Amino acid sequence: MADKVLTVCPYCGSGCQLHLLVEKGQVIGAEPAGGRTNEGTLCLKGHYGWDFLNDPQILTARLRKPMIRKNGVMEEVEWKEAIQYTAERLSAIKEKYGPDSIMGTGSARGPGNEANYVMQKFMRAVIGTNNIDHCARVCHGPSVAGLTYSLGDGAMSNSIPEIEHSDLIFVFGYNAPETHPIVARRIVAAKQRGAKIIVCDPRMTETARISNMWLPLKGGSNMALVNAFGHVLVHEGLYDKRYVEANTEGFAEYVDSIKKYTPEYAEGITGVKAADIRAAMREYAKAPTATILYGMGVCQFSQAVDVVKGLASLALLTGNLGKPNVGIGPVRGQNNVQGSCDMGALPNVYPGYQDVTDNTARKKFEKAWGVELPRKKGYPLTEVPHLILKENKLKAYYIFGEDPVQSDPNAAELREALDQLEFVVVQDIFMNKTALHADVILPSTAWGEHDGVYSSADRGFQRIRKAVEPQGDVKPDWAIISEVATAMGYPMSYANTEEIWDEMRSLSPLFSGASYQKMEQQGGVQWPCPTEDHPGTPYLYKGNQFSTPSGKGRLFACEWRPPQEQPDAKYPLVLSTVREVGHYSVRTMTGNCRALRQLSDEPGFIQISPEDGADLNILDGEIVAISSRRGRIMARAQISDRVQQGATYMTYHWWVGACNELTADFLDPVSKTPELKYCAIRLERI
Ligand code: SF4
Repeated sequence: MADKVLTVCPYCGSGCQLHLLVEKGQVIGAEPAGGRTNEGTLCLKGHYGWDFLNDPQILTARLRKPMIRKNGVMEEVEWKEAIQYTAERLSAIKEKYGPDSIMGTGSARGPGNEANYVMQKFMRAVIGTNNIDHCARVCHGPSVAGLTYSLGDGAMSNSIPEIEHSDLIFVFGYNAPETHPIVARRIVAAKQRGAKIIVCDPRMTETARISNMWLPLKGGSNMALVNAFGHVLVHEGLYDKRYVEANTEGFAEYVDSIKKYTPEYAEGITGVKAADIRAAMREYAKAPTATILYGMGVCQFSQAVDVVKGLASLALLTGNLGKPNVGIGPVRGQNNVQGSCDMGALPNVYPGYQDVTDNTARKKFEKAWGVELPRKKGYPLTEVPHLILKENKLKAYYIFGEDPVQSDPNAAELREALDQLEFVVVQDIFMNKTALHADVILPSTAWGEHDGVYSSADRGFQRIRKAVEPQGDVKPDWAIISEVATAMGYPMSYANTEEIWDEMRSLSPLFSGASYQKMEQQGGVQWPCPTEDHPGTPYLYKGNQFSTPSGKGRLFACEWRPPQEQPDAKYPLVLSTVREVGHYSVRTMTGNCRALRQLSDEPGFIQISPEDGADLNILDGEIVAISSRRGRIMARAQISDRVQQGATYMTYHWWVGACNELTADFLDPVSKTPELKYCAIRLERI
């Protein structure tokens, strides 16, 4: 009889609870548990995403021993040497060039919140810089910035289970069936209950297929469409006047900003019929409860923060906040990207979203950590290549649980930048593309091999648990970072993850009451949870008390700006990067699970429209060459009538046919998130 270990799926922000089934020290299966968000269901990644933990046949690339590059070759070494060497090299670089010459990352994947807390503490207290960031920068960075501005908290306002009980679900640039299958089930369940589904997406996604209304806007026209929605709400008198008066600010400026965005004007930019824009907003406004869900189709544009604020304004105009079954939901992609933000693995905030430039907050952390802390904000990780190649400001990079060469835009430029650095540390569970540029590789335990806490996309802290002993000479991430800190002269010694968690919550008022004990008792705790007797918060802004400086929601609209790189005669098509349901992130874990590998085991495809296929004489299934101003790759063509003419789509999971060889690093000016949803490419037969 197998032992059952209750934990949380590591493959998306839905935060589904599951039991790992363990027999003779091996994981032999997984079954769903009754978690708050999944209620006894799992998608296929939850069911089959575990056998990378113990199958020696597929563990060829699992890191099992520390390595140091000696005379250009990676050699296995003992931990003592690896820790000492890392500490000496980082100390020397800090001494020679200053603390701000070193950059570090958190990890939104397997390590958990405690490891992220320790990593940001290491960068701030030991290195002496706020140069800590993580992959939220390439995904939901605009949500943190935009929602914090509009409502006060950079997170989902309501809970995943509430989606099912909403009367209308407004899906913008978000493909739930591929990214969060359990959320997709909630959308389907809502539809079965009679809810209306409206989808804004250039591509006919699975959700668009079951929707009541699909608005196929042109890629890169989001702000124009959102402004037109606001125009309809205001000019047709559909907005909730009393709510707006009592609970918002900036209405006069908002009305002025949307003045020219009549549905007819927006139709010219977005391609969406004016009548459909009106019809969508009439439905949204009249629904007793309406929920906005959005994803990368909003965030991975160079005008993303503005669009997030614009979407939040629609919820404010209609009073769809501060009560159950409404709100706005940035559904986080990676399993713990909410948690990495919560823990302060960001260049501008300490754990619990406390500003690093706020003197009171800084003094509190200085007192607790016993050192003087840096006063200015750190660098965002998307500026790393520029800071190395153009400004000569960075000399070392400690990359923890991320693979930016695979996941970030303009891979060739990033490779060149990494090779310019004096010292690169990669701490991970598998050999990845970034590790090829490392001077030291520190192998860590994987999900299933350590304890901790993940944050689901809807602010839910949940315990993850160790199920099996790790294979190889590996250590938990928090222990590795603590040893490097100690070797650099700042003793860090935690007995376990609970000790780290308790230190974190003692410094973070938003999370103070979210103890391990409460998570055990309740199954999880949603923040804010300020006191020991507080049960947690399923939805934010009760009583319409927003967390903004004035306590009111801020309305916002502005001019639409087109994407930065437009197609031309040489590169006439537009590429968007997307995900597929069977794989997760850079595919190190799911690519090493047999069932998932069998589901999808060939390097990525490029989806193109039948019209473009005919124009270019490209057949379905044919291998084609794809080039942009930054690189050239090959992939199999997939002709799809779900795709608009001129648009193409590639998944970003694959080493071969890696679409980030093509993508551009144009950034949103506020969040510094790259425009991964829009760059110009050319397709050729080969
Ligand atoms: Fe895991 Fe997400 Fe699937 Fe749930 S929906 S089982 S969290 S991948």
